[in-house]
Amino acid sequence: MGLILSKFGGRCIGDVEELAKIKNIIRGDIAIPGTAGTTTPDIPGTAGTSAPERRYIVVSAPGKRSEEDQKITDLLYLCFSNIEHNVPYQQVFQVVCERFLAIAAGLGIRIDLAGEFLAIQKKMEHGGTEDYIASRGEYIMAKILAAYLDMDFVDAEGLILFDKFGRLMEEETDRAIREELEKHETAIIPGFYGTLPDGSIKTFVRGGSDITGALVAKAMHADVYENWGDRSGFLMADPAIVENPRQIEHMTYAELRELSYIGSPMMPEASIFPVRRAGIPLHIRSTEDLSNPGTLITTEPSDIRCKESELTGVAGSANFAVFSVFRGLLGGEKGVLRKILSVFEDWDISVEHVPSGIDSLSVIVSADAVEGKEDEIVDELRRKIRPENVVVERVALMNVVGSAFYHRPGCAAKTMTALAKEGISLRMIDQGASEINIILGVAPEEFETAVRAIYKAFEG
Ligand code: ASP
Repeated sequence: MGLILSKFGGRCIGDVEELAKIKNIIRGDIAIPGTAGTTTPDIPGTAGTSAPERRYIVVSAPGKRSEEDQKITDLLYLCFSNIEHNVPYQQVFQVVCERFLAIAAGLGIRIDLAGEFLAIQKKMEHGGTEDYIASRGEYIMAKILAAYLDMDFVDAEGLILFDKFGRLMEEETDRAIREELEKHETAIIPGFYGTLPDGSIKTFVRGGSDITGALVAKAMHADVYENWGDRSGFLMADPAIVENPRQIEHMTYAELRELSYIGSPMMPEASIFPVRRAGIPLHIRSTEDLSNPGTLITTEPSDIRCKESELTGVAGSANFAVFSVFRGLLGGEKGVLRKILSVFEDWDISVEHVPSGIDSLSVIVSADAVEGKEDEIVDELRRKIRPENVVVERVALMNVVGSAFYHRPGCAAKTMTALAKEGISLRMIDQGASEINIILGVAPEEFETAVRAIYKAFEG
């Protein structure tokens, strides 16, 4: 029997109506496009006669139901901060408790929440760490959901294992998850936290339930890692720049990484790598629109079907700095690239791109990373390289991504023509051998026009 590992987070966890939908999804009572047994694009590994089941569920703490609402995790962090500063925390904790009580009442379940709250409060007052307090949102929510769905509650304590430095122990975690879950036909597992060797609670970064989901999916060899949250899927471009960009239906992990690299990351790397390495498809979905097939991310471009457009997406940021070094006979000089890069390494600055001419070399870095250090970096470059000139400018970078670009003539031409028509001059071009993306640099003030022009060139 196949397995879908589902992680639920965001708004759908805070709202009773959405939680009822989750029950239907888990029980397979409703047909959801994009999932096994339906006609819309099948997920590799989920199609077939025996429909895969959602037997193991990872859950995050209740999110915001509206703009004015509070995330439970934020409130828990506030409780800790109040305790730390000797300010009464009880009122804030009361809001947390009431929210959970309302969810339990709305779902019509009876569990001893008062006892749980009391135990948490005791620990809060007697040295409960920030991570412990923050993790209780996931813990209580998993308890409620286990009761509602009649599934086993399996704590993440002892399942997600960190070493004494707080680094995830992947192999041990993998084994611990498998050994425990094999004892359970069904289970609800709280996301976001695990344990340190001394038994105390350690949380991941914010949004870390996604990481728990990926780790459980990998350990249990799931056919798909389904991530249900606030967004129905990833968009081809930033909606703040392009009006109503289309949703990406399918893409590869390599494309997702390209699109997350420049600009705002679509998902934290840590929540992608476990499933990517294991070749497990990731499916982004939202309970708010069950008719939306979401975004499916797979390993191989050949897994991608129904692809209409050559362009998968365009991401970018206007916030880069370019250091250009000019000197006659720079090209051909041995070790000069290393010397230039060592300046940035000494400042602990990661280099994004190094486009070059014969006797000039440009180093592109995040503008934030060099803020306040530009003059010293230029001095250092002058000292080490003795250039005729060093120029520092701002540049915007765009990553134009499409696995369909591979061995297809005309995609670069289409992109450049779109920019030329807008009168935008290119400051930099970079295409790697994978041929799945082209990185372009333009003046920061032309960035948004450039993104719109490229999107329009492919999508009309
Ligand atoms: N509840 C945690 C947070 O708000 C983790 C998560 O939602 O994934 O960051």
